[in-house]
Amino acid sequence: MPTTCAGYSTAAHRAGKVLLHIEAACLAALTVLLAGPASAGLARARWTARSPRVALVLWQAVGLGGGLGVLSAGLTLAAADLAGQWAAGVAAVPGQWRRFGPTGWLGMGITLGVGVYLVSATVTSTMRVLADRRSHRRRLAVISTPLEPRGAAGRETGAPVRLVDHPHAVAYCLPGFRPRVVLTRGALDVLDAAELEAVLAHEQAHARGRHDLVIQPFIAWATTFPFLPPARRAVGAVTLLVEMLADDAAVRRCGRAPLHSALRTLSEQHLAVGGADTDAWRRQMRARMTRIAAEAPQALPRPVSALVYGAALALVVAPPMVLLLS
Ligand SMILES: [Zn+2]
Repeated sequence: MPTTCAGYSTAAHRAGKVLLHIEAACLAALTVLLAGPASAGLARARWTARSPRVALVLWQAVGLGGGLGVLSAGLTLAAADLAGQWAAGVAAVPGQWRRFGPTGWLGMGITLGVGVYLVSATVTSTMRVLADRRSHRRRLAVISTPLEPRGAAGRETGAPVRLVDHPHAVAYCLPGFRPRVVLTRGALDVLDAAELEAVLAHEQAHARGRHDLVIQPFIAWATTFPFLPPARRAVGAVTLLVEMLADDAAVRRCGRAPLHSALRTLSEQHLAVGGADTDAWRRQMRARMTRIAAEAPQALPRPVSALVYGAALALVVAPPMVLLLS
């Protein structure tokens, strides 16, 4: 009987190990799928402009699912070397890593290598952004004065508005725990009251929504893997969606016409003073202007939005659940 039990146990272990190897391959394939075709398709998709918030949630799930996929693929390979069951194999890693065979070492190498690289690149990129912002805020305090805009946007409780006495027409949000909306004298000169209010509503939406936090993980990803086109594509797509969210907030407050004419004026001024005229900038401006000028883009029906949210949740939650049950 003991021989039979041991035989059964060995067979079960082998079957569990094969299953874990298949799951590791599936997780690696999921990462490739999300980083490649899925993100390319999402960046090209037209429906995202109808519901930018829904699309942003899906982008975050794609990024998180891709990262977790490669990390857990490596961990699963390593666990398979120690046990025929995922949780038991992972629990055994700290104490029994000396038993690793080649696939176990490969798995741990992938998990630790990619994990350390991702964390260090994210921390480095975030620290750099925070340092740039601190420096920007200090310089801004020196060269700007408080501005109390008139109109609804001015009365709105939000980020303080600072005026920089410069002839170039510029408006932007300096994000952070203490965000600032920055306007130049040039912007005040070329925008009428309604346009100015629309621009302020747009920038206040960036500050209020902490849109910088939405974009930052994708910037870190692009910084980590600058040689990967999907990373750059994701930054471009997510940046555009965040702009659309802020545009929607401004349209709700001030209407389409003032925001459209303000955007047109500011982009003309941007080009007139030799601002960056890249393909990406032109594409983004064209997409936003077309969207604002059009009749209200019909948002995705609620059941479809719910389906997308469900897919986003499944991307992040389903792989760990499958692993825990295996
Ligand atoms: Zn903006």
